[in-house]
Amino acid sequence: MKALHAKRCWSIIKGESVWAHYMVRKYGDPSTPGYSLPYQPSPLWRAIVELFPMVSRHCTWVAGRGNIPIWGVNWSGTILPKPHLFNYIPNIRQVINSPFVRVASGASVDVRSYLSEEAKYVLNAIVLSEDKDQVCWTLNQKGDFSTKSFWDHYRIKFPIDSWSHFYWNKYIQPRVGAFLWRLRRNAIPVDARLLSMGYNLVSRCSCCENPETETLDHLFVLSETASTIWRHFANLFHLSSSPTDIENLAQVWLNNASLSSPSGISRNIIFGNVLWEIWKQRNEIIFGKGKRNCNFIVSRVSATLQQHLVAFHLPADGGVLSTHGHSDTGQSILGAADPHSNRRAAPTCGHPPILSAPWKAPAFGLKLNLAGRLGDPPFTAGGGIIRDNREFHRRLLFLYG
Ligand SMILES: [Zn+2]
Repeated sequence: MKALHAKRCWSIIKGESVWAHYMVRKYGDPSTPGYSLPYQPSPLWRAIVELFPMVSRHCTWVAGRGNIPIWGVNWSGTILPKPHLFNYIPNIRQVINSPFVRVASGASVDVRSYLSEEAKYVLNAIVLSEDKDQVCWTLNQKGDFSTKSFWDHYRIKFPIDSWSHFYWNKYIQPRVGAFLWRLRRNAIPVDARLLSMGYNLVSRCSCCENPETETLDHLFVLSETASTIWRHFANLFHLSSSPTDIENLAQVWLNNASLSSPSGISRNIIFGNVLWEIWKQRNEIIFGKGKRNCNFIVSRVSATLQQHLVAFHLPADGGVLSTHGHSDTGQSILGAADPHSNRRAAPTCGHPPILSAPWKAPAFGLKLNLAGRLGDPPFTAGGGIIRDNREFHRRLLFLYG
């Protein structure tokens, strides 16, 4: 909005539009030194006048005919204030033609003696012509006002987040990226945040058997749910499994995680999606739609990771194999419990893990893939897909159960 008001200021300074002429006739010229708001101005005019000095500072005039006020306008590099001595403001043409101006006391005064050295130098260099005086915008190369240049100059810029490339990349879904961005800025409404904003509530986290105050660090790092899940995934990548807070957690997972290596990409995907799934489950519990289930989160994150690995043609083990040389971690990364190793077993709290099956398109013709499961109702299900030889192109999909 501020940038749009600035555009209106620019229009008034240029004085070329009918609207600008109308407004100046109605409310007066805000570039006049000592201008004050008229009685009951419109909110729009009030906003324009407030912004006018800010815009004027970035305008510079190039003399043509010389109808530029000698004071109150930037033609010499700075805006010179009008000395009280003078009754009126001569323009550049008048000063060049005759620098002596009669003041209130009746004396004739040389205007140039009230100019700075720099302004005198510029004034001496001006050659008047019959061209129109031109105003230039100094915040861009073109010299013409743009809302973008104004906004870029005046907006408050936060320091660049060193981890932002882990939020905004093709491996992280935009909604997860946006969530991480908010988390990084302490903008997730956990109880502690609401309490700090003045809401009167009793905090009781939904992530532990013995509830505690719900803070960001507790919910996402230290709680029973979070620590179980982080421990499971950290074991796969041989990372420290006891981070102390979110900052520390991000360091453990993202430091040295290169997005050009499958291992780094997997760590990035796991980091983002575990946080996202913890938040989703927390909300489902709060709104009475779910219950605490670490295994469900592990399965969801594993399935998401597997989908990404297939979609981006990365190794199915998520780079763990090439990094650490373990032959069974590829299976574990899918969320399947490993019966031979307690360390890599998926945490057990209910749901069976989701197993993903990567598709391979046929070399030519059509290919039918079938899958099924026999069990007590309603757990009997089956499905199939017919695909042609075009990668990721589904010709027909049917499910039954
Ligand atoms: Zn808790």
